[in-house]
Amino acid sequence: YFKPCQMPQSIGLLLPGKEMVDYICQYLSNVRERRVTPDVQPGYMRAQLPDSAPMDPDSWDNIFGDIEKIIMPGVVHWQSPHMHAYFPALTSWPSLLGDMLADAINCLGFTWASSPACTELEMNVMDWLAKMLGLPDKFLHHHPDSVGGGVLQSTVSESTLVALLAARKNKILEMKLSEPDADESLLNSRLIAYASDQAHSSVEKAGLISLVKMKFLPVDENFSLRGETLKKAIAEDRKKGLVPIFVCATLGTTGVCAFDNLSELGPICDAEGLWLHIDAAYAGTAFVCPEFRLFLDGIEYADSFTFNPSKWMMVHFDCTGFWVKDKYKLHQTFSVNPVYLRHPNSGAAVDFMHWQIPLSRRFRSLKLWFVIRSFGVKKLQAHIRHGTETAKFFESLVESDPLFEIPAKRHLGLVVFRLKGPNWLTEKLLKELSSSGKLFLVPATIHDKFIIRFTVTSQFTTREDILQDWNIIQHTAAQIISQNYGLHHISSGDEARIPNMVTEHNSNVISNASQLYIEEEKYKIPSRKIVVQPKKVAMSYNTCVISQQVEGQGDLLDDCFPEDVQDVTKHKLTSFLFSYLSVQGKKKTSRSLSCNSVPVTGLLEQCNPKAAATDKKESHANARILSRLPEEVMMLKKSAFKKLIKFYSVPNFPECSIQCGLQLPCCPLQAIV
Ligand SMILES: *Cc1c(COP(=O)(O)O)cnc(C)c1O
Repeated sequence: YFKPCQMPQSIGLLLPGKEMVDYICQYLSNVRERRVTPDVQPGYMRAQLPDSAPMDPDSWDNIFGDIEKIIMPGVVHWQSPHMHAYFPALTSWPSLLGDMLADAINCLGFTWASSPACTELEMNVMDWLAKMLGLPDKFLHHHPDSVGGGVLQSTVSESTLVALLAARKNKILEMKLSEPDADESLLNSRLIAYASDQAHSSVEKAGLISLVKMKFLPVDENFSLRGETLKKAIAEDRKKGLVPIFVCATLGTTGVCAFDNLSELGPICDAEGLWLHIDAAYAGTAFVCPEFRLFLDGIEYADSFTFNPSKWMMVHFDCTGFWVKDKYKLHQTFSVNPVYLRHPNSGAAVDFMHWQIPLSRRFRSLKLWFVIRSFGVKKLQAHIRHGTETAKFFESLVESDPLFEIPAKRHLGLVVFRLKGPNWLTEKLLKELSSSGKLFLVPATIHDKFIIRFTVTSQFTTREDILQDWNIIQHTAAQIISQNYGLHHISSGDEARIPNMVTEHNSNVISNASQLYIEEEKYKIPSRKIVVQPKKVAMSYNTCVISQQVEGQGDLLDDCFPEDVQDVTKHKLTSFLFSYLSVQGKKKTSRSLSCNSVPVTGLLEQCNPKAAATDKKESHANARILSRLPEEVMMLKKSAFKKLIKFYSVPNFPECSIQCGLQLPCCPLQAIV
């Protein structure tokens, strides 16, 4: 069947195809040299594109030329070795080529008959993958004792929702046995599910969608959900007349890569009749290595398991493995069987449309198959070990600097760290690092401590890359420390005693802030005492400096904005208010940050009254704060605010929370109302 393409013009692919492959090779080989995060503002692209689509065909040369001109300036380079935000989202050449073929075939494998190879390859590769990870036989398609199997979903979020929907359906059917006349929605209202307070925001979202109450349980000192905690919650809820149905245990939390205790949770779920779902989105790939499987102890109790080969396994997005113990529980949740989708092998063959929410599905298993075969299990293991070793190396660098601390144990490729002392130091560090664009990091909080997450992402990350990043981090930290430290002593009239190097902020001499302390005995300990933070007013979101700053400006806002407000504006504002208000007073220890983590800009100025007060450019600060309010907020009158706030003040889910590590600007609304 395969002949070299004789007539490129006929499908118009060959020449531009080669050019594109060359470009991709170039891009991926040299991605290290690019600035990781772009330096663009919202709407930057608008001026570069025509208002409407071209009527006549554009030339390929024009289109191709626009990649570097229009697209690349706004891209975050996730494949860069200096990308340390979120979790990895890796790609690789077999993955790209596999998907290229899948895109060309472009079949929709909803039923076996709609493209048999699509279903059959997926079944076999999912069995391979389950065995590679050491998952139990009950998750295999091809095993005499199994009624389960694996399927590729688009995301872990979707898998978790699918699992919860299946658990819900199953429990409602069970309840119907004793209450045959009860309305399903009433039965639904009694259901409750659990996860740890470290669980990913997608678990909360699954609860929102399914209208199943979701309770987030506290974790132990290792950020792990323990059996006793779950047991107690179940007993309490049963007493209230609720029906516990589901636990989502996380292996490798997004915040600090912590692991819930499966071997304790499993038997409880088993005894209490709860569906145990496991979210191992990132860490799942590590189970390819037997030495990391200790966290899988208790997996035999799981009803479903999900992880993302699209994170660490170098199969590019989207590709999420999802396994269930009992496929019929999925069928009874998702089966609809219209005539036009029936085929002679219906029933005998697997129809993956019954395993998922959408009907249509891509041929995703091709890229997974290409990756597993091209690397082999051994190279995949080596890749995981390399990432972990690289993270250990970074950890050792952080540990060697007394200015820094590692507030949670490192697991796999994620190191979390912070500057010792008050949070604003670390916030400022992150802000400066982010604006450099040289590396990309996102924050999290644990126990009210502001931390920075550093994930080793790229398979091409070298020690030199890590050293380069560490030098930047260390250097920036040194500047921050010396600036604030300098500031303090200057203000206390102690100028003469500050070594010159301290005030030369850009001097390369300060390559290492700890040197600073070693050389000058007096300033040795980088503790709260040395880096004297201006006395902090309680820094809850409610009592932040903005209110002080905006106060005294009278009815500034009243005067500034028009009377009539569009509906769409109101709508946007209400969702803003909703999330804002649910954050207020509901500070959780840490929530995940897989989605958009808001770059921390200006938090220091906003949250540190003294620093702000000493800010000579105070009016600028005010302008900055105002510009940070959502545009819509600016257009509302005070009275409208009050009404809205009243209305939205009672979040129906107590835990509608600081998702994604989101730090809202300190209480802009408080300031206005
Ligand atoms: C990344 C992540 C998710 C979300 O994965 P998606 O595939 O983007 O939905 C869920 N849970 C955890 C623990 C994660 O790290």
